[in-house]
Amino acid sequence: MKYYSTNKQVPLSTLKDAVLKGLADDNGLYMPERIPQLGGDFFAALHAKTLQEIASEVAVALFGEDIPAATLRDIVHGALNFDIPLVKVADNRYSLELFHGPTMAFKDVGARFLARMMQHFTRNESVETNVLAATSGDTGSAVANGFLGIEGITVTILYPKGLVSKIQESQFTTLGQNVCALEVEGTFDDCQRLVKQAFLDKELNAQRKLTSANSINLARFIPQAFYYFWAWAQMPKDCEVVASVPSGNFGNLMAGLLAMRMGLPVKHFIAANNANDIFLKYLQTAKFSPRPSIATIANAMDVGNPSNFARIMDLYGSNYASVTADISGYSYSDAQIREVIKRTFTETGYTLDPHGACACEALREYLETNKTPKGFFLETAHPAKFKETVDDILEADIAVPEKLQAFMSGKKQTVGMSIRYEDFRDFLLK
Ligand SMILES: *Cc1c(COP(=O)(O)O)cnc(C)c1O
Repeated sequence: MKYYSTNKQVPLSTLKDAVLKGLADDNGLYMPERIPQLGGDFFAALHAKTLQEIASEVAVALFGEDIPAATLRDIVHGALNFDIPLVKVADNRYSLELFHGPTMAFKDVGARFLARMMQHFTRNESVETNVLAATSGDTGSAVANGFLGIEGITVTILYPKGLVSKIQESQFTTLGQNVCALEVEGTFDDCQRLVKQAFLDKELNAQRKLTSANSINLARFIPQAFYYFWAWAQMPKDCEVVASVPSGNFGNLMAGLLAMRMGLPVKHFIAANNANDIFLKYLQTAKFSPRPSIATIANAMDVGNPSNFARIMDLYGSNYASVTADISGYSYSDAQIREVIKRTFTETGYTLDPHGACACEALREYLETNKTPKGFFLETAHPAKFKETVDDILEADIAVPEKLQAFMSGKKQTVGMSIRYEDFRDFLLK
């Protein structure tokens, strides 16, 4: 299978090149040339299979021409060494708990898969690969932990100083080994810009082997398609199903749309946003107007220029009517997110994190107005990752899982960084 850039200014790429490059030379995002179709037999047999079995079959359909099936199964089993339970929250709403991995957020899935696929492609090379990742919180921890200890690959994490939670920060600043954390004097958008600029810097790339692990890397977003099949397989089969996705850079939603294109019978997708409602505005006006991000309590979704928008446009041939037929949008203020967390806990006993809360509420609103029977939402982080916020809302002291406590007791090791590209470049060349 070959991969093209959404900007269509460069030749087709192999899977290996697309994965190691991350971003195409024309600044576009890679997309598979063909989208494999999974037939009725596949879906009929799905409910009896494990997450890992389903993921392996989908992985072989997508990557089987380029990586042997047995290797793909190893990559899947290595990456998905945790459960993704589907939990009933209310009569018609289910939570897909994506937070049972090592850093307790859904990004573990894509990051762990990507790390193993990169390792597969670089195992015979002598030059060290440097993975650059900008993070608004959860990418950093997932990428750092996904790559921790992988030989031949170093990881540089850029994060906005003071804008990520203590627990998130501890997950990528205390690791050491092949992981370095840069504390940037700016916003997430600044971090993302620095990384993008480094990839476009020809001189730098002649001297260093750089690659990306952000959700722009196709090997990060594509494996996220696996759990949509798994979730659908666990849902009651007597009715139509919709899926609600808390969105920032839209990699997660894009993976769901890919699954739908492969044949997954999810009827409709819901893009749930915090106050950064650029995508909702697009759905309402047909105009995409990126703007600086606003800080919210669902900070992993504080994105002003969602990078995967280009992929969604590509998938739909920029046809606005088709996009709005498949996707609805909702946006919630911090005050609304707080109210949802409180109400959901009171009514159902379920503790949401601020990101999942957006998706849970968007699903509730959608089901109510569209008389659609059932749906699942993606619960993308464990509530204890946002303990201060959730404790304050619920007037409680929620338990911190041992996995998170272990990070908190580590020693912080970071390097300070300005938002000037020259400084970042110097650091990379050091
Ligand atoms: C990254 C993240 C999101 C947003 O996912 P995208 O793929 O960027 O849209 C939502 N929730 C949590 C907890 C995240 O870490």
